[in-house]
Amino acid sequence: RTDSALYAAKAAGRGRTVLSSSPRHGLSRDLLVALDDGDVGVALQPIVDLATGDVVGVEALARWQHAELGAVAPTDFIAVAEESGLIGRLGEAVLRQACADALELQRRWGRPVDLAVNVSGRELVDDGYGRRLRATLAEVGWPPTQLVLEVTESVVDASQLVALRELARLRSFGIRVAVDDFGTGWSSLSRLDELPVDHLKLDRSFLTHVTSSPRRTAMVRALLGLCQELGIDTVAEGVETADQAALLRSLGCPLAQGFLLGRPAPVAELALTAPVRTTAPPERRAG
Ligand code: C2E
Ligand code: MG
Ligand code: MG
Ligand code: MG
Repeated sequence: RTDSALYAAKAAGRGRTVLSSSPRHGLSRDLLVALDDGDVGVALQPIVDLATGDVVGVEALARWQHAELGAVAPTDFIAVAEESGLIGRLGEAVLRQACADALELQRRWGRPVDLAVNVSGRELVDDGYGRRLRATLAEVGWPPTQLVLEVTESVVDASQLVALRELARLRSFGIRVAVDDFGTGWSSLSRLDELPVDHLKLDRSFLTHVTSSPRRTAMVRALLGLCQELGIDTVAEGVETADQAALLRSLGCPLAQGFLLGRPAPVAELALTAPVRTTAPPERRAG
């Protein structure tokens, strides 16, 4: 059914398919079929309050199991969706599934969670995006005040006036905005105070060597301080070790996400875990 398999190579050790740009258009037809069949799924990754260890939110991450290629990396099929004009449909499918999953989590846990979804720049500037988003939320019964839209730095770049205006409008309905992968671009540090932004997700590259390099630590401390003064909640991304979590906690980082705190998982799996910590946080247990 597809010849894209011919070009695909399994990424070493990760069990995911990484694609060069050439076979991507071969995939768009398969992605269209997958969207028609409801085969694009969602994994949820916990976002944790570092002070208490409680899960306060989840990020929805798109998942696609291709019949021949296996699990395709989101960065690959998101690019395919953007290039082939399917990103709006994909975003809508992910949002619907994510809301249903988050409602299920809330029922199982008996407490509210925030839901973060990723929005591509292309999707955001599409005519009527905000109207459709709000209609979907109303239809599935997810409160706008518990939704966080994650956009990357380039989307909140000064030149993206349409995107900025749309985000500002959505915020007026109680939807929050997060700058994703912060620190991987250069544009927004000087503009943080004027951006329509509630959360900043510190890219996981900041955590590399953070526990061993005083300079790295200083940068993270300064960014956390800046965000705190601006009233922006920081989420540290890619927390993989207990040392990183302990350091971030000591620096006053409010929120974190990463393999240490919980891997992306289907809602049924996540619902089985405890949302509230009943024992001491890991570094205190370790003594
Ligand atoms: P992102 O929004 O920054 O999502 C976080 C990515 O980091 C996820 O990769 C997650 O699995 C991974 N991650 C989480 N904790 C750790 C950790 O401790 N260590 C490491 N090494 N990685 C960690 P994933 O699921 O492969 O998604 C990649 C990117 O694809 C996302 O980055 C996001 O930009 C995009 N994406 C995923 N789902 C969607 C979607 O529904 N719509 C759009 N537009 N983009 C999406
Ligand atoms: Mg994200
Ligand atoms: Mg991110
Ligand atoms: Mg990132």
